Amino acid sequence: MVFFDQTMLLLIPAVLLSVFAQWKVKSTFQKYSQVSGSRGLSGAQAADVLARRENVPVAIRPGQGFLSDHFDPQSNSLVLSPEVYNGRSLASLGVAAHELGHALQKKHGYAPLMLRSGLVPLANFGSQLSMFLFIAGIFAHIEVLQTAGILLFSLAVLFTLVTLPVEFDASARAVKLLQAHGIVSESELPGVKKVLNAAALTYVGAAVMALTQLLRLILIARSDD
Ligand SMILES: [Zn+2]
Repeated sequence: MVFFDQTMLLLIPAVLLSVFAQWKVKSTFQKYSQVSGSRGLSGAQAADVLARRENVPVAIRPGQGFLSDHFDPQSNSLVLSPEVYNGRSLASLGVAAHELGHALQKKHGYAPLMLRSGLVPLANFGSQLSMFLFIAGIFAHIEVLQTAGILLFSLAVLFTLVTLPVEFDASARAVKLLQAHGIVSESELPGVKKVLNAAALTYVGAAVMALTQLLRLILIARSDD
């Protein structure tokens, strides 16, 4: 059986890491959403100040859902969750500046972001079709279908890997911007960094999970030979 075999055990560390990362980002965000920034700016205001100073033409809109913050490159807008949009905490400032970091990446043609955008349709297509081909290949014992499934799944894995430099870079830009434009003080920076590092860990968890799944597929295919 494809889904219940001993390679399932390989998933345990990846699942534990993902669960830990989810807990970590939530608890760190909640902790630092209680710590107000000394300048009294909301996430939306801080993003607006940074966007003007850095000359990045973005719309800043409120979104819905906890930690649903993202930069939409198509409409050039920062969509900030209610806590980040309205909040005046270090957590809100960090996340808002991180999303502006993505807007700056687009403005400067940051290569991993371009690659990541190009991979979105391929990764979606790959992750949907790959399992179908792979499972069909296992049941019918057709190696070429198994290989095609693995190659398509690799596109989804590649997407999670390319996401890592994009996210780390956006956080590095956020810290620099907040510091350079005096949005947060030196003593407030460590709190902001903790929030951003916790958020980055969720992307590491997703990448480890995807790599482990790929390893499983390869092992299952090999044992089918
Ligand atoms: Zn991001």
